[in-house]
Amino acid sequence: MPPAEPVFRRLALIGIGLIGSSVARIAGARGDLAAEVVVSARTPATLARVAELGIADRIEADPAAAVQGADCVMLCAPVGVFAALTEAIAPHLAPGAIVTDVGSTKQSVIRDVAPKLPAHAHFVPAHPLAGTEYSGPDAGFVTLFQNRWCLLTPPPGTDPAAVERVAELWRRCGAMIEVMDPAHHDRVLAIVSHLPHLLAFTICGTADDLEGESRQQVLQFAATGFRDFTRIAASDPVMWRDVFLNNREALLEMLARFTEDAQAMARAVRWGDAAYIEDKVERGRRIRRSLIELRQA
Ligand code: NAP
Repeated sequence: MPPAEPVFRRLALIGIGLIGSSVARIAGARGDLAAEVVVSARTPATLARVAELGIADRIEADPAAAVQGADCVMLCAPVGVFAALTEAIAPHLAPGAIVTDVGSTKQSVIRDVAPKLPAHAHFVPAHPLAGTEYSGPDAGFVTLFQNRWCLLTPPPGTDPAAVERVAELWRRCGAMIEVMDPAHHDRVLAIVSHLPHLLAFTICGTADDLEGESRQQVLQFAATGFRDFTRIAASDPVMWRDVFLNNREALLEMLARFTEDAQAMARAVRWGDAAYIEDKVERGRRIRRSLIELRQA
């Protein structure tokens, strides 16, 4: 079969950490995401590292320069800077450019980006459900999105051809596509990702607050369960601060539900309700088995 045409002529990645550098690596390895990849980031150190890694065709310190002539611009920075970034790039977008993103929250991204874009641009918000606790341009790898979902949340009236091109880019990254309402996205992600991170950061803080010897033993005997929380808690502080602050409503709602359920479990422990406890543990095992069957474990 002849090689497929690249989905885009020029792809501008604004931000090049774990997610952006994975896309850049895939683009370099496959050759059919974009004919040219231009990269911009915040700090000279990151840009220098990108040059060393050789994962961009061109590097621009100024995001406004990076987006010029690009038919696709992908925002890969923490969601808290999307409003300012969009203001900086909007006047420089090529006619008909597709602007997309990888942000972990979707209503806030639509709120912060859509009104600032010129009428000729197309906006296709996206969120690849793939990640690790590592960040920065060294953290990316080509198989990150393999068999993972990428959720698209285009606002009503978005050009279907623009949505399809973004979907095709993610399919070529190995992802499966689902189109979703942004409010629904934020509620689902609050329970499957944002709340678990909140719990991990909190439990690490609780353990760290323990006095002397107990605290030492938390680290010594961490393999008993705490270790899995510390892996999640190692994630980037700026990214997670921005996610929490930009999915506030849904996260607080899920936390309130969780707190009620945790109180119910505490009551069962207090009153020796063995059947209740066993039932909850069994339910957890069933969920784990379903994840393995869906190949999302
Ligand atoms: P990361 O590894 O921490 O990298 C963030 C990148 O954004 C860096 O290149 C950083 O540049 C750049 N950046 C920060 N502020 C900027 C600004 N004002 N202008 C331009 N670039 C800026 O982050 P990541 O994990 O790839 O996450 C990126 C996005 O993907 C976030 O919106 C996150 O919500 C979303 N996401 C993350 C995951 C995950 O598990 N990590 C999964 C799915 C989606 P410097 O290095 O120069 O500061």
